[in-house]
Amino acid sequence: MPRISGGRSGTGEVVAVGPGATTIGLHMNNTTLIRTDELERILLETTPRKAVQRAVDLIAQSILSASVTVMGVDIDQRVHFDAANGIPWSVLRKVEASFNQELPRNIMGIIRGRETCFIEDVGAYPDWRRRAASDIVSYVGFPIIIDRRVVSIINVQTSRQRLKPEDVDALRPLIHLISLIIARYLKEQQSANRENFLSLLHETTLDGVRAASAVEFMNTVVKRIARRLGYQYIALFLYDDETESLILRAQKGYTSEYDGLALCVHDHVGVVVRAFRLRHTVNVSDVSASSFYLRGVPGGRSDLALPLMVGGKVIGVLNLESKKAAAFSREDVRNLTPLAAGVGLMLASMQIKQLLREQALLDGLTGAHNRHAMDGIVVEELERARRHGHDVSFVMLDIDEFKSINDRLGHAEGDRVLETLVTVLRKSLRAIDKVIRYGGDEFLLVLPETSQRETELLLERLRAGIGTQVLTAMGAVHCSSGIATVRGDPEEGDLVQLADKRMYQAKARYRAQLEEDPGY
Ligand code: GH3
Ligand code: MG
Repeated sequence: MPRISGGRSGTGEVVAVGPGATTIGLHMNNTTLIRTDELERILLETTPRKAVQRAVDLIAQSILSASVTVMGVDIDQRVHFDAANGIPWSVLRKVEASFNQELPRNIMGIIRGRETCFIEDVGAYPDWRRRAASDIVSYVGFPIIIDRRVVSIINVQTSRQRLKPEDVDALRPLIHLISLIIARYLKEQQSANRENFLSLLHETTLDGVRAASAVEFMNTVVKRIARRLGYQYIALFLYDDETESLILRAQKGYTSEYDGLALCVHDHVGVVVRAFRLRHTVNVSDVSASSFYLRGVPGGRSDLALPLMVGGKVIGVLNLESKKAAAFSREDVRNLTPLAAGVGLMLASMQIKQLLREQALLDGLTGAHNRHAMDGIVVEELERARRHGHDVSFVMLDIDEFKSINDRLGHAEGDRVLETLVTVLRKSLRAIDKVIRYGGDEFLLVLPETSQRETELLLERLRAGIGTQVLTAMGAVHCSSGIATVRGDPEEGDLVQLADKRMYQAKARYRAQLEEDPGY
C-alpha cells in the first residue's frame, strides 16, 4: 500500500489521493493509507459485529505495533470487549473481569469526562493494569458517544513505539470516521433490541388473548422469552392466597422436580420472595455475594426477579437466572419491566374470568354448588361410576319446618342456619363429595364410591352433627333425607328424583311421628 510522502506531517488531515479521489489517507508518519474502498467494505459487512471487527483491523493496520480493542460500556458501567486486534480473547476475558471488579482510572475518566485519554508512557501511569509479558508503551482511548453517554471506547495501544500527541491528533479523523460507523451499528443494535422486546410484548399480548387457561399462557410466555431473548433459566411464579406462597407454574431450564415448588412469602430467603415483598425488581449480579439467594440453577451466578404488578398488588414473579455473573443489565430490566406488567395484567384478567366462571356455579349464600353446576356434576359422577364399576350415592336433604325459623326468628337467622348447615356438611364429608344447593332449604349430596349402606351410616353421623351444631333459639335443626344409589339400587331412572321422592316420604314419616309425639 502506498504511503503518502511529503506534505505536512502529523496534522491529521484526511486527504484524498489517487485518480478520481478514491483514496483517503492519514497524513501521519507511521500510518499507511486508508482507502475509501476499505471504509466501504466496513459498511457493506453483513453484521454489526463483523463491521466493527473490520474497523478495528483497519485502525490496527494504520499504526505501527498497535493493538486495538472496542469495548462496550453498559448503563451500569460494566464493560465488555466487542472486537479486538492484536490481543488474544483469552487475555481480554481476564482483563474484562478485572475491569468489572473495579474500572481503571483511565477508563473511568473517559466514561465520566467523555473525552479522549492519552497516556504517552504507561510505565509512568500509576493505575495501569499491567498484564504479564505485556510490552505496551503508549495508550490512547477514544470515547464513542450516543445520546451524551459513552457507549463504547476504542482503545489503541502501541508496544514498539511511543505515541506522540501529534500522532493522536493525526489519528483522530480516522477514529471519528470509525466512531461514526460503530455508533451507527450500536444504534441499530439498540433499536433492534428494543424492537425485539416490543415484538415479544406484542406476541405475549396475543398469546394472552388466545390462551385457554392461565397455565397454558404462562407456558407460552416462558417459551417466547427463551426464544426471543435467549435466556436459559426462566420461571413464572403465581401467588396463592390460601397458602400465602408463590407457586412455580411454568418454567424452562429447570428439572421437573421444581414444578409446583411453593415459596412461602413469609420466609425471608430468596430473590423471588424478596421481589414479591419489596414490590420491585431485584437484580443480583453475583449470587455468591448475596445473603438472600436461594439456590436454583446449579452453578447459577446471577438472578433477576421481576414482580408481576397489577394495581399495586403483586400477583406473581418472573424469575430469570444465568450461569454468567452480571448477566442482566439495567437495560434488560428496563425492557423486561413492561413485559412483566403486561403478563401480570393478562394473568389477572384470566384469574378474574376463572373466578367469575367458578362463582357462576356456586351459591352466593352458602358457597355450595348451585343448580347450574348440578347437571354437570351428576353426569360426571354417574359416568365415572359406570367407567370404574363404582357405587355413587345421592342424598336429598331438606330442613324441616324451615319456614317457621324464618317466620319466628327472622330471615337473617334463616340464612345463618343455611350457612352453618353447609359448613357442618362440608366438615363431615370428604373432599371428593359434593354439596349442591338444590332449592331454598334443600341440598343434594353427591357421594362417589359410597354404597347405600355406607351412606346410611354417614347420614346417621350427619344427623348427629347437625343436631349438635346447627342450633337456633327454637332448638336443634332437623333434616329429612332420601337416598338413591347407583348399582346398589334396583330402581332405574333419575336417581336425583328418586332421592327427592324418598326424602319427601321420610319427611311425611317425620311429620306423622311429630303429630303422634310432639317431643320426637
Ligand atoms: P318442610 O318442613 O315441609 O320442609 O317445610 P319448610 O318450613 O322447611 O318450608 P319449605 O321447604 O316449604 O320452604 C322453604 C322455605 O325456605 C321457603 C323460603 O322462604 C325459605 N328460603 C328459601 N331460600 C331462603 C334463603 O336463602 N334464606 C332464608 N332465610 N330462607 C329461604
Ligand atoms: Mg323444608
